[in-house]
Amino acid sequence: MFLLSQLNRVVFVLLMAMILHMLPIHNHSLPSSASVTTSTEDQITNPTPQTTSIQNRSILPNSDQVAGSLQPSATSAQTEAPATKDSGTVNWVRMKGTTEIRTEPDPSKPDLLIVTANEALPVLQQTGDWIEVGLNTDQRGWIRKSEATTISVPAADTQLLKVNKNTSVYLGPDESFDQAYRLKATASFIPKMVSGKWIEVAEQKDGKPLWVPTSQAIWTYGEQPAIEAWSQDVQALSSAAKLKQKLPLEGKTIVVDPGHGGSDPGAIASGKPVYERDINLAAAQVLANKLKSAGANVIMTRTSNDQTVSLAQRVQISNDNKADVFVSIHQNMYQQDPSVSGTITYYESPNSKQLAEKIETATTGQLSSKQGQQNEQIEKEQLYVLKHNTRPAVLIEGCFLSNPSELNASLLPSYHEKLAAGIYQGIFSYLHA
Ligand SMILES: [Zn+2]
Repeated sequence: MFLLSQLNRVVFVLLMAMILHMLPIHNHSLPSSASVTTSTEDQITNPTPQTTSIQNRSILPNSDQVAGSLQPSATSAQTEAPATKDSGTVNWVRMKGTTEIRTEPDPSKPDLLIVTANEALPVLQQTGDWIEVGLNTDQRGWIRKSEATTISVPAADTQLLKVNKNTSVYLGPDESFDQAYRLKATASFIPKMVSGKWIEVAEQKDGKPLWVPTSQAIWTYGEQPAIEAWSQDVQALSSAAKLKQKLPLEGKTIVVDPGHGGSDPGAIASGKPVYERDINLAAAQVLANKLKSAGANVIMTRTSNDQTVSLAQRVQISNDNKADVFVSIHQNMYQQDPSVSGTITYYESPNSKQLAEKIETATTGQLSSKQGQQNEQIEKEQLYVLKHNTRPAVLIEGCFLSNPSELNASLLPSYHEKLAAGIYQGIFSYLHA
């Protein structure tokens, strides 16, 4: 795999070198070496068939193109800052006022776009009284020369895409992708990739690319952002108001405590090699996954059946992390009467009572239909992990391992699923009460 990917990389770099050599846009006209490197790496790591690299699709102005396309009359008109191959400048125009940008250098053709005063746009070519300007990565238009002032921009300045305030930012180059963010303010980006009418402007911290429609972007220029400034840009984007509804338990910390473990097996079923610790962990893991899917920060007090964790440690995990909910999962045992069955939820502090009630109700609802559990009750009892907990905390005994039918059921994944679902529903309705 390593050799293959290295080989692919070499082939890719060779291909890119060939493409760059063939295209009229030469290397020195690319926005910046930093953005070239980024887009090249993107292509290697995230090859997307329909996606083309910015340098293939770019209509970024460059001095060769501008100089080559100039007509004699245009050259003389361009006295302020003639674009030559060696001058180190590229030509831009700044609108004098609100300007109509047209699809063709012909007033009878429909308008393309209205640009406000002081907008600066790169010059692609000039013909007669008309200048063709780049609007964004795949849009160009024509303005009258009289409507703009020619300005020169140091080639060292980076060409950036200015993206409008309130633009929706998507996770892919299509509106069918999730809308991840909305830009709180106008922001400038070094464009990374272009795909049709979409442009990749940045990526999330997790590496997912962020796209905006090209219709919301316009060329601008400026000094190339330092790496620090660039990462700040991405952070600003990431912290921009999320459009997507927050996950229901986002920002909540839940400590899930599978009772016993390691040298302490908990209750042991008579006549069967069934340890309470194993059932507790199985249900706790299902619960943890449900909570994580809902966006919660989940902390398990133990994740294996070989782990021995003291009661003091379990409580400390809850208190130190300022848990919104601490839930300890156990199974019961009452050998004096094997007919006793059902769920019991314990709580200690008054601020845990509501949590206990919600969990008890939901768990009973999940388990009762199939298993006919009875004796469900909330009990107030001084248990160590509850007594020393400063957070809303409950301890649930899911079933009685001394009851033959509950013992059999407790070994099945369906029991772990139902117990976890009940606890999850209880936590959910407690946190949303
Ligand atoms: Zn126990």
